[in-house]
This record gives sequence, C-alpha cells and structure tokens, in this order.
Amino acid sequence: MEKKDIKSMTLEELTGELSALGEKAFRAKQLYQWMHQKLAAELSEMTNLSKGLRERLEKEYIWTALEPVDVKVSPSDGTRKYLFRLGDGNVIESVLMRYKHGNSVCVSSQVGCRMGCRFCASTLDGLERNLRPSEILEQVYRIQRDTGERVANVVVMGSGEPLDNYENVVRFIRLLSAPEGLNISQRNITLSTCGLVPEIRRLAEEGLSVTLALSLHAPNDQVRKTLMPIANRYGLAEVLDACRYYFEQTGRRLTFEYSLVKGVNDNLEEAEALARLIGGHHGHVNLIPVNPIKERDYVQSNREAVEAFKRHLEKRGINVTVRREMGRDIGGACGQLRKSYMDRKEA
Ligand code: SAH
Repeated sequence: MEKKDIKSMTLEELTGELSALGEKAFRAKQLYQWMHQKLAAELSEMTNLSKGLRERLEKEYIWTALEPVDVKVSPSDGTRKYLFRLGDGNVIESVLMRYKHGNSVCVSSQVGCRMGCRFCASTLDGLERNLRPSEILEQVYRIQRDTGERVANVVVMGSGEPLDNYENVVRFIRLLSAPEGLNISQRNITLSTCGLVPEIRRLAEEGLSVTLALSLHAPNDQVRKTLMPIANRYGLAEVLDACRYYFEQTGRRLTFEYSLVKGVNDNLEEAEALARLIGGHHGHVNLIPVNPIKERDYVQSNREAVEAFKRHLEKRGINVTVRREMGRDIGGACGQLRKSYMDRKEA
C-alpha cells in the first residue's frame, strides 16, 4: 500500500488517522502543531510524543521536508531565492520578498509546467509532476524557519499553473490558513492563473477568500495567442466572464497581470484596448516589465514605454501598479534558477 502524506492532512483527518493507531485526539493536535505551527524539521524534535509513536509515524507515513540546495540573496533588496530538493530528487524554487508591509513568499505549485507561455522559463522543459500540499506548505515553513521572520503574505506565482493542480492547491490554501496552523489569512494569499476557465469558476465556489490574479498579458486574443498557448483553448471573453463570476461569488477584487514586452503588447493602442477590456471589472492592473530569459528573444519595454502605458490606463480611470523588479540580480524570473541548475547538472 502506498504511504500517506502526513503533512498534507487536515487536523480532522490526522485525528482519525491517529485514533486508528490507538492514540487520543490530543495527540493528533500536538502532532499537528509540531508540523504546522512550530514548523518542526524532524519528527525527533517532537519531544512530547512517545518515541514509539514517532518511530511508527516515521516508518508508516511520508514525511515531507525540503532541503535547500542553494540560496541566493540579493544585495540590493534582500530578496532570497531558494532552490529546494524534494524527496524524489526533483528541485523547485521559492522566493522571499521583503516589503514594508511584511514578508511575502512566492511558492511553486508544480515541478515544471505544461502551459507553454512563450516568455516563461518554468515551462521550457514541460511538466514533471504536481506538488503535494505538504510540498507547497514546506516552502513557506522552511523559509520562515530559515529567516526566523514571520511570513505575512503568500503568492502562488512560482513555477507551475496552480489551477492545473487544483485539488492539492486548494488543500494547501486551507492548511495554510487553518487556525491550528500558521493561520495566514486567506486575504493575504494570492493565486495567479493563466486563465483555466472551468477551474476559475470552480474556485469561485470553494468558499475561499483568496485574491485571484489573472495573467492577461494582451488586450486581445490575437496578441494573447502569440504569447500564451492557453489562449487557443479559452478566449478572453470567456476568461473575463469567469473572473467576473469570481468577484461576484467572493467579493474579492482581481489583479490583472500584464507583462510588457517591447514591440509586442506595449503601445498606446494596446493600453487603450486593455482599458476597454477591463474597464467594467473590479480590480487593478499590475504591469510587469518582462524579465528576459536567455532561451527567448523577448525584450523588456523601456522605462518610458512602461510609464506611458501606465499613464494611459490611469487617464482611463484604472488602478495601476508597476511591479518592482525584486531579485533581478539573482535570476528573478519564474523558473530561472531551477533551469540553470538543471542545465548545469546536465553539462
Ligand atoms: N501559472 C500561473 C503562475 C505563473 S508565474 C500564471 O500563469 O499566472 C506568475 C506571473 O509571472 C504570471 O503572470 C506569468 O505570466 C509571469 N511571468 C512568467 N515569466 C515571466 C517573465 N519572464 N517576465 C515577466 N513575467 C513573467
């Protein structure tokens, strides 16, 4: 029989599991706290559990712990980029960003990705596998333990398409926001998607209150198709309908991400088309000067183009922010660190 992943269980499930082993409910609570609140690195730290129980847990369950292979620290802004090794030898990356309003961790949801966005490094080698809830949680846990600083916000914006790993990601959100765990408010969790329509609608009905970010990157289907293969499956009209539904169900304002690529999607007609497209929506636009990756020849829009694009949207009454480029000096773009690690390993 395949072993169960103990760190992916809710407190309720864990209680059932331990009661089957003849343990009382308070033991489950202690174990849960060790894992999700005290962020124990190993079972041996759990000194109020009997040695017998710990040994049994060790033998009969999967115990997820991430091992940092590499940590890069940006001298300019303190951003820390982690490369973690998983139990099966795969590696993933996570990023800690330090903002005035608190620490934010960006987690990966899959090893690789199969969405194929043209400017993204995470998808170059396709999808390896989905991450389990515990493997997504551990990215946050490990970073909080490593720095000793509380993580205030979590963004599911690392490698992978979170809605392509739906069940595990939703479970991750529930565990991360559970009062018996780190208790990170769902309002401080953002999930970014390239726009999987059925899953956006399903998420709207989960009863969660996380912020949804949509990777838009183009004001029309024609341009979007050149950047994102998923645009061939779902048209913008459908995607934006699903976003509207998400807002209606959750009351959460959306974020529209728009990576600016020189000569592809950054002129003022496109800004105007974008304003029309999302004008009636509840949300704001986050402009991201594209982070060039060496495998593709996309070029970042220059500062003036970014500013002009921003001003045009503002003139049309749209809230706009420009993403600060944190950790650019340490390979900031999604999937870059993993990709260079894998390439080095192969060489
Ligand atoms: N699969 C999710 C999460 C991906 S990463 C999604 O598509 O939203 C989060 C954001 O970074 C997405 O908007 C993605 O399109 C963008 N992104 C990826 N690589 C980038 C790059 N090299 N430059 C700028 N933005 C990038």
